[in-house]
Amino acid sequence: MQDRQSNAMNRRRLLACFMAGGAGVLAAKTAPAEEAGDPGTGGLHNALLWSVAWKQTAAEYFALCHQAYNLARLRLDLALSGKHSRLPLAVVTDVDDTILHAASYWGHLVEQNMDFFDDEVWDHWLPHNLQTPVPGALDFFNHCHERGVEVFYVTSRDQGDRTYEYALRQLELFEFPFADESHLTVFRDTSDKSPARRAIAEKHEIVLFIGDNLNDFKRDYYVDDIDRRRSLLERDRDEIGSRFILLPNPTDGHWVRAIFGDSEPQATDANRRILKAAASRSAWNGA
Ligand SMILES: [Mg+2]
Repeated sequence: MQDRQSNAMNRRRLLACFMAGGAGVLAAKTAPAEEAGDPGTGGLHNALLWSVAWKQTAAEYFALCHQAYNLARLRLDLALSGKHSRLPLAVVTDVDDTILHAASYWGHLVEQNMDFFDDEVWDHWLPHNLQTPVPGALDFFNHCHERGVEVFYVTSRDQGDRTYEYALRQLELFEFPFADESHLTVFRDTSDKSPARRAIAEKHEIVLFIGDNLNDFKRDYYVDDIDRRRSLLERDRDEIGSRFILLPNPTDGHWVRAIFGDSEPQATDANRRILKAAASRSAWNGA
């Protein structure tokens, strides 16, 4: 009950903050981009700095990745030891920020004083193959291969006609096992991965789903409501760390959509106000 009241209050505050930013929406539309995003501070007030610095430097970030893959290995070995299904076992994984780390992309945005995900820069950056393997990922997927468990890669990307080629080439380049067309699915038009999950489950027992986004596990999480997403997670909490292995990602994902109603919101002052309201959702009032 207390949580419900508190959430309702937070929602009202978020809405009030958003409404207060109404004048800013018009200002942002007419202001030059550099003024809207970074008014003469040399990028020092960039909203991305903390999260990108964390992903670039924190041993804790790398530790969480190892923790996820150590847990995945434990779960896989348990599944193998208690296997009853006649179907072969399989693992389904996302790609970006799950097995491939995009540190240089985010670092580039920060250097350019950009503070929101930028699709055009992403599409330009991605074919350069500047990703690095997420810590623990290669060891885990090689372990799957050694134990005869197939790995299926399912990603949502769109870099035009060569999208699939780029994705497959990156799996090969970083020497991930099962890097072939029967184990890689790329959705160009949607972030809904359910059809791939269903198709794989017809011929395999999927023991693990690995991703940095709850949408990598269930489409239910594609909702633009913070509280709804949180309540869905409470419903599914027993599956976290058992069937679902989650990697940390503080820069992008459908948690962004829950705040803005858009997974890739525009870099406007109106959206910066929404971000601030989200970040101060349960703020102490200082009294
Ligand atoms: Mg991802």
